[in-house]
Amino acid sequence: MNFRAIVWPQRCPALSIAQGQAGDHQLDSFRRTTVTSGGFAIRWRSSTLKSMGLRGPPELRQLRRRLRRAHRRDRTLKRLAAQARRLAEGLATSCGALHCCGSCGRFAPPPHGRYDGGFCCGGSTAELFCDHELQALALVGVRALQLKAAEDSEHAGCVFRGAQGCQLDISQRPIICLRHYCREAQRELHSRGLLSAAQRKIEAIDEAFGAFKRTRTYCPP
Ligand code: SF4
Ligand code: SF4
Repeated sequence: MNFRAIVWPQRCPALSIAQGQAGDHQLDSFRRTTVTSGGFAIRWRSSTLKSMGLRGPPELRQLRRRLRRAHRRDRTLKRLAAQARRLAEGLATSCGALHCCGSCGRFAPPPHGRYDGGFCCGGSTAELFCDHELQALALVGVRALQLKAAEDSEHAGCVFRGAQGCQLDISQRPIICLRHYCREAQRELHSRGLLSAAQRKIEAIDEAFGAFKRTRTYCPP
């Protein structure tokens, strides 16, 4: 089992009403909350918001705020982001599930050892989703409210890390997650005859994402 490759259902139909529209200050009020969409004001109970995944831990709300602010229009950056993400998603799909990812956290201290698998998901959400990553996600169309925290993710490092693996769809994960294979994972890839191809793909990803970062740094939108 590749701990990081587990894909969970992401979409709540009702979210389409408010997607990308609700401000976090709106989501935080104590008993009832107003969500604005297309000129309409809708009153929600906070328990309803929670069940819909509209609320979440502070690091998730901060991440959503940053994603909402990210630029979404520059054509050159969009092309470079799409290319890097296509390569990274292709790598994750071609390597598939790895057994070692389901047990690497065992016996490690928290947060890495919070669950049996996904040791490398024990980092900080804000650092994993750096500005480059968030900008690339925004440019390929990922929306803030599509990102939902894993159940019981407290003290597990990344807010999307849950008992069953990464909560996010592959298309929503940072490139750093998709191109990372620790030594143990590389050994497993080698035993399956996939390592050389994976290494070539990782080089291509790094080149493509490097071009995106350079363009973004020196020619900001
Ligand atoms: S890449 Fe390595 S550290 Fe990360 S989940 Fe897989 S085995 Fe664990
Ligand atoms: S987004 Fe978080 S939980 Fe998902 S693979 Fe990356 S570090 Fe792990």
